[in-house]
Amino acid sequence: MVQSNPHMIDRFGRVHDYLRISLTERCNLRCFYCMPEEGIQLRDKAEFMSNEELLEIAKTFVLMGVKKIRLTGGEPLIKKGIDLLLRELGKLPVELAITTNAILVDKYLDDLMAAGIRNVNVSLDSLVEEKFNKISRRDYFKRIKSNIHLLLENNFNVKVNVVLIKGLNDNEVIDFIEWSRNENIHIRFIEFMPFDGNNWNDDKKVSYKEVMEKVHHHYGLDNVYKLIDSKNDTSKNFQIRGGSGTFGVISSMTNPFCSSCNRIRLTADGKLKNCLFSQTETDLLSALRNGEGLEKYIQESILSKEKERGGYSQFDNESVNLMKNRTMVSIGG
Ligand code: SAM
Ligand code: SF4
Repeated sequence: MVQSNPHMIDRFGRVHDYLRISLTERCNLRCFYCMPEEGIQLRDKAEFMSNEELLEIAKTFVLMGVKKIRLTGGEPLIKKGIDLLLRELGKLPVELAITTNAILVDKYLDDLMAAGIRNVNVSLDSLVEEKFNKISRRDYFKRIKSNIHLLLENNFNVKVNVVLIKGLNDNEVIDFIEWSRNENIHIRFIEFMPFDGNNWNDDKKVSYKEVMEKVHHHYGLDNVYKLIDSKNDTSKNFQIRGGSGTFGVISSMTNPFCSSCNRIRLTADGKLKNCLFSQTETDLLSALRNGEGLEKYIQESILSKEKERGGYSQFDNESVNLMKNRTMVSIGG
């Protein structure tokens, strides 16, 4: 049996072998639940990892036992030198995946394939063009839809992420599932989460329970199959009888999956976050630039990981106002 590296195991016995790397805080969309209206403050280039630094840090994680790396952002495909970076990351002995808004997928399709990426998560919050453009504050709906088809034609496994917001796109739950019935995609409905600058409010959240009520009401209990979720799945997954694809719900707010969490996050400015909601960060980039070994910092960070959601127990409107975190666009999801 392969032994897990003890440095990657936290106080609760969770093995951390999945690293999400944010390549940039910048984005070509402005989704209101992710990016504050005023945008994010641009910082000096020197504050961020160069591609060489990023590779070096990634290699350390792989040596310490990371088996999967997902590239995220901001928008990862706008990162300068992404083609070369994909090529180098593709050489690491890990499963490489990406989460993207898909605007630039046509441009980098060959590079994604050459890097051995098979799993692509694409964000698309509405199937109605004007609504999507309103949510993302830009005008790329047709390009994203056509790039999703391009990915499917090229046999990528495509998951479509949909952040549900009450009164905005929650009336499209069935339309998204119908899409997954006809094409081989996996739709993931995500409960709206609070981050700095996104005006989160509990009333805007659409819960797992509400999604499943809509689904059962429309298809009938007998036509909705529960699929067996894999060990570290963040979504509860289902299939409609006779459907081609599947759908799932990520219930981070109403039913968090912290007990099986295997994730750690590296931000574009080289900070290690041991949880999406962590209140502290570990500065790996400065350590690297000072010529220090990173292992002890990584281990300390993992050992300080809280049991659930960064140690926050309450996620009501009042408590969330007191929370301290980054904007989502600077964490990467
Ligand atoms: N730009 C890429 C994209 O949109 O797919 C990658 C970065 S984005 C921050 C990663 C994921 O986080 C997306 O699927 C997005 O929908 C999700 N996300 C952003 N803000 C969120 C929020 N407040 N609550 C839940 N999910 C959120
Ligand atoms: Fe950009 Fe993705 Fe955030 Fe939308 S969700 S603003 S595409 S980083």
